[in-house]
Amino acid sequence: MIFPVNIQWIDVVDILLVALMIYYLYQLVKGTAALNIFFGILTVYIVYLMVDALQMKLLSKILGQFIGVGVLATVVVFQQEIRRFLLLVGASWLNSRFRFLNKMVPKNLVGAYSQSPDTKELEIALHDLLRTQTGALVIILKNSELKYYLRTGVPMDARLSGQLLLNIFFKNSPLHDGAVIIKGGTIKAARCILPLSEKTDLPEHLGLRHRAALGVTELSDAVAIVISEQFQQISIAFQGNLENNLTVPEVMKKLNDYLKKD
Ligand code: ATP
Ligand code: MG
Repeated sequence: MIFPVNIQWIDVVDILLVALMIYYLYQLVKGTAALNIFFGILTVYIVYLMVDALQMKLLSKILGQFIGVGVLATVVVFQQEIRRFLLLVGASWLNSRFRFLNKMVPKNLVGAYSQSPDTKELEIALHDLLRTQTGALVIILKNSELKYYLRTGVPMDARLSGQLLLNIFFKNSPLHDGAVIIKGGTIKAARCILPLSEKTDLPEHLGLRHRAALGVTELSDAVAIVISEQFQQISIAFQGNLENNLTVPEVMKKLNDYLKKD
């Protein structure tokens, strides 16, 4: 029997949970190539249910084989998305656990290299980089450490200053390529290579720099700021969303909002 006659409240909860899960899965793969795969798998599963209900033995047996290895195949196909999902869940869990500890540490114990970035210095640098149309990619860390990506660059551990940022991104500087990663008041590394977003619905004029900004925010809670050298525009990315064509004050306001957000 496909439709049970007496539906109990636990069935309603069951259905609601599945609906919620599908919704979150959709949110996660929206705008990526994985979306097509997601619909492909959903279609095969629905066809299988129909074929099975109609008792078409041969076809249901063949599709049944697919469904049998389905869980394993899904893990392989969605490896990146699952990773991203677990990273985000883990980061927010750790954050909520340790937030009260952070609050207990007096601010003056944190020292000169404070937890929140020196946004005034950053703002000075962004104004100049935009004015001189110098390509730049700045990643501001929150809870995710991004250790793996820090290692791809040149370690710096230098106090954040506008002048230093300008110097790094200066067109002929050896460090101008790739991304600068900032944590609190410190520039941790320069020339870092970041993962590229696989989104298919990005505007065509956005190249690798913007893809890298988006990519890093898809798998961490970091904020990315990009200055395009081609179009003299500044953008900000957070949690897999890129906002283009802003002014520097708008970017700074968004940055402050994102840094406060859990
Ligand atoms: P722009 O608008 O400034 O031209 P764009 O988004 O069009 O930026 P590209 O023109 O492809 O991007 O920019 C190339 C620059 O982006 C490279 O010189 C390099 O500094 C940076 N970049 C490219 N790929 C990565 C990556 N994976 N991680 C970090 N930085 C990268
Ligand atoms: Mg370009």
